[in-house]
Amino acid sequence: MYLGAHVSIAESIALAPERGAAVGCEAIQIFSRSPRMLRRTKPLPPEDAEAFRANLAAHGIRAAVIHDNYLINLASPKAPMRRMSRDAFREELERAQLLGIREVIFHPGAHMGKGEPAGLRRIAEGLDACMERADAPDVMPCLENTAGQGTTLGHTLEQLADVIEASSHADRLGMCVDTCHTFAAGYDIRTRDGYEDFLRRVDATVGLRRVRAFHLNDSKGDLGSHLDRHEDIGKGRIGTDLFAFLVNDARFRVVPGCLEYPGTDGGYRKNLKTLRALVTTDATAKVRPKRARRGR
Ligand SMILES: [Zn+2]
Ligand SMILES: [Zn+2]
Repeated sequence: MYLGAHVSIAESIALAPERGAAVGCEAIQIFSRSPRMLRRTKPLPPEDAEAFRANLAAHGIRAAVIHDNYLINLASPKAPMRRMSRDAFREELERAQLLGIREVIFHPGAHMGKGEPAGLRRIAEGLDACMERADAPDVMPCLENTAGQGTTLGHTLEQLADVIEASSHADRLGMCVDTCHTFAAGYDIRTRDGYEDFLRRVDATVGLRRVRAFHLNDSKGDLGSHLDRHEDIGKGRIGTDLFAFLVNDARFRVVPGCLEYPGTDGGYRKNLKTLRALVTTDATAKVRPKRARRGR
């Protein structure tokens, strides 16, 4: 797994690769614009996009992903909000294309009391509209699984699969697995068996090949609490075992895994150190996780 963190784009997006490298990232996640407003923003200057791409290479960042503006709600039952969300999401896809980033990770949305089926349908329709209108042929929207707070959708794998199946462009959709959200949503991934069982369920619903990114967060909330509260790796209710399974899983060798907590340079450095200490140098364990398990 390419390990990294969500880094700031303050001042200039072109500086993000350097910021990431400074705390030890080989993968970075960024916002493609200030995440505080939904209103239209100035287009990204092409020279900034070019500088960003050059800096990725210069600072040894092997994977970059975008997290969309979290005010976007493609599931909103209110038409004006839905329209604003679609416009903003289409812009996210277009900025990703310019930056040479393939994955745009997004929270599927919240149905705001109008029910699951209606919300899931609106997400699929919104995604289709955005993918069809955006000038972003190489970009892959990745649904992030959620903790299931409030009327938030996407906390079960079945809901994510429903959105993908309802889309006319399912071949272009991916998934981001957030470890905190997975656990808070009720999937017990603390043991090897629980982890493997979760991945089997991902494969049976969304499809394992769609998993394009991970958010590596421990959880302040307990199993099934539906609390979206991140914690330092190993300091929360999940503990370190899950992260050891992930960083050594050959299936995710070239998949980015980004910390989102605590958001400070020092905290990221510490958590990346914790993660790297879990990487085993035993080549057989890396290549053949199943055989290693049987031997125990
Ligand atoms: Zn996340
Ligand atoms: Zn979260």
